[in-house]
Amino acid sequence: MANVPLYKPPMLVDVLRIPLLGKILRHPYGRLALQAPLFIIAALLIYDGLTGDQIASKNLATVGAWVQYRGIVALALLLLGNLFCMGCPFTLPRTLARHLSIRGRRWPKALRNKWIAIGGLFLFFWLYEWLDLWKSPWLTAWVIVAYFVGSFVLEALFTESAFCKYVCPLGTFNFVYSATSPLQIRAKDHNRCHTCVGKECVNGSYAEKPMILIDEITDGVPTKTHEHGPDGVLGCGLLLYVPQIKSNMDCTMCLDCVRACPHDNVALAVRNPLREILDLSAWPKRVDLGFLIVALAFMGLVNAFGMIPPVYVLLVNIESITGIHSSGVLLFLVFFVAMLLIPAWLSFGASWLSAKLAGAKKAGAVKSTFIAFAPAFVPIGLGIWLSHYMFHFLTGALTIIPVFQYFLTTFGITVLGQPNWGLAQILPNEVISFLEISMLVGGYLVSAVVARRIAGKLYSRPGAAQLAWMPWALLMLGMILFAAWVMSQPMEMRAVETSWLIAQVGRL
Ligand code: SF4
Ligand code: SF4
Repeated sequence: MANVPLYKPPMLVDVLRIPLLGKILRHPYGRLALQAPLFIIAALLIYDGLTGDQIASKNLATVGAWVQYRGIVALALLLLGNLFCMGCPFTLPRTLARHLSIRGRRWPKALRNKWIAIGGLFLFFWLYEWLDLWKSPWLTAWVIVAYFVGSFVLEALFTESAFCKYVCPLGTFNFVYSATSPLQIRAKDHNRCHTCVGKECVNGSYAEKPMILIDEITDGVPTKTHEHGPDGVLGCGLLLYVPQIKSNMDCTMCLDCVRACPHDNVALAVRNPLREILDLSAWPKRVDLGFLIVALAFMGLVNAFGMIPPVYVLLVNIESITGIHSSGVLLFLVFFVAMLLIPAWLSFGASWLSAKLAGAKKAGAVKSTFIAFAPAFVPIGLGIWLSHYMFHFLTGALTIIPVFQYFLTTFGITVLGQPNWGLAQILPNEVISFLEISMLVGGYLVSAVVARRIAGKLYSRPGAAQLAWMPWALLMLGMILFAAWVMSQPMEMRAVETSWLIAQVGRL
């Protein structure tokens, strides 16, 4: 660790210094205060999903998971950062595994990358579409259960928060898009970290028996000490070392590092949201990370495309050509090509063209160009996902009220009144459409500007940066035009939020 240069971004504001909020966040049970309500909500979703009315629009599991959760998480990522991982209830079983002293081995070295996470995201989106998870409360409940079990088992078998870091599709989504979050963990005083003996932010301050650590000795006498003991916390489960953190990638915002640091040297700093994606050294130069960002933006397109009528025309055509009749296999093929192969071809094609146009001749220029430009796909990807998820959220945000009232009435509790099934949309259609387009256009413009800045950092020769940028700008333009076309189509779930919901209301 000592040989890696420490990173010193400018400090703006430390959220942990805000009265009351900072105190809550830093408290040993601060995270639990956020996790406990989310755990209760998850438990309610599981219960209603398994035992309640199996009409999607009347069940907490489907409305909570597919309308509320996704919209709120996407918006929070944009405005505040990775709040979901901070309050993630799926990590509570991990804590249980820790208390049961079930501690396994380190995650295998060959798997310490994002390829499994990319595969997990792909499988998640494929299963979501194939099994119509959005309209099955029962299956949705089992997805939540699977999350709890998966988190517990992986924590029991491996150290290093393997589930969060290498597997969890939700966390992976949050890690990528918290790149534009206005908040980031960082050290306040890097000199302090240089002389810090315990490196508790990563090593932890937990010890079974109390022990004293000496920080400073003057004239042979310890003048500054601190203690480790049963009240301490484990260090960063994801093995991030605070003074070297340059990005939000892999940071769950658990704040264990804050609580573990005996020198009060960790800040939750407000930052320029574009700083991370403009900093070419912010992320490790790895193809898996770059491909995750690019593929996730394409997954946003395909996820929305999977809900519009043309996808059925495409499936029927492929069925007649290949003779494959299984909808699961057909969808798998379409998704595999569109979510993984096409992004790989297009992005590596753009890298090759970009390097060639700029006159880059070094060995490995295509790979390094790909890695350098990949972060530029964060804003466009976020714009596509936000546009899609916010549509569902804004057209169905209020449905949670009658659904919860209905849930209570099944127990004979009517204190909140009878369900008003007319509640759904919170904004007029015109405003929602305007917001959708704004998110798409905004995401595209920011991505195009970021890509141009990256090109400028890579090539100083006059004209080279402009030429290197063009393939990426064209690729992004193609993506955003396709996204605009998809969003303009009538969607399967769009129908759920509007006419399908209305039809359900009419049946009551
Ligand atoms: S424990 Fe605190 S002072 Fe020590 S290295 Fe970590 S952040 Fe720096
Ligand atoms: S302990 Fe690690 S994951 Fe948690 S906030 Fe600190 S750096 Fe992020």
